[in-house]
Amino acid sequence: MSELAARRRELVVANRILAHENVFDSYGHVSARHPVDPRQFLLAASVSPGQVGEADILLYGEDGEAVGGTTRAQYSERFIHAAIYAQRPDVQAVVHAHTPAVLPFTVAPVPLRPVLHVAAIIGEHIPLWDMHAEFGDTDLLVTAPAHAASLANALGNGRVVLMRGHGFTAAAGSLELAVRVAIYLGINAQAQAAAMALGEVRYLSPGEVAAADARMGSPRATGRVWDNWAQRCGLAKPLPVQA
Ligand SMILES: [Zn+2]
Repeated sequence: MSELAARRRELVVANRILAHENVFDSYGHVSARHPVDPRQFLLAASVSPGQVGEADILLYGEDGEAVGGTTRAQYSERFIHAAIYAQRPDVQAVVHAHTPAVLPFTVAPVPLRPVLHVAAIIGEHIPLWDMHAEFGDTDLLVTAPAHAASLANALGNGRVVLMRGHGFTAAAGSLELAVRVAIYLGINAQAQAAAMALGEVRYLSPGEVAAADARMGSPRATGRVWDNWAQRCGLAKPLPVQA
C-alpha cells in the first residue's frame, strides 16, 4: 500500500473513531497532511464522519480548495485545516468539532484546563477565539480564509483552541495524537464541569501537565488506545491467521 493510500485509510478510521466516541455528531471533520507533499492535505467531502469511506477522501491545496476541482459537496469550514497547515509545519492532523461537553467552556467565564493526567495533552492554557471580536456579527462559521487565519493565530503553538458559541479545533503532530487530544478534551471538560459542581477544583499543576505530556504527548505514545477505539467502531485489523 502506498503512503498516500495508507494515510487515506487511517483518516477513514479517524473519522469513524471520532464519530463513535461522540466527539462528532453529523458535523465535524478531521484531516491529515499529505505524507509526501506537505503543501497538500486529505479531508473528506461533505459526508457525516460516521459514514466516511475511502472514496470520500479528497486532496486539498494550501488555499483550502480541492486539488483539480471536485463536483462533490465540500465542508464549508475546510479553510480551518488549510490555515493551520500553512501556519504550523509541525502539524500533521487537524480536528474540528462541536462536542457537547466542551461547548459550555466556549461561552462561560471559566477556562477549560487539564484536571486528568490523560488530558495533559490538551495543553495547560487553552485559548478561546471569539470570532465577533474581529468580524462582528456573523453566522459563526469559519467559511473564509481570513476567518481561518485569525483562528490559526489564536491557536498559536498549542494543540487546542476553543471557538466561542461553536466548538473547538485541535492540531497535533500525528493523526493518532490529534484524535486522542479531541477525545480527551471532551472527557476532561465533562470531569471538570462535574468537579466544579462539587466544589473547588484541583487542576494539574504546570509541572504535572509538562510531565504527563512528555509521557503521553508523543505520536503513538499509546498505540493500544487507537487499536481499541478502532475495534470499538468496527474497524479493527483482522486477526492474524493461525498456523
Ligand atoms: Zn464548526
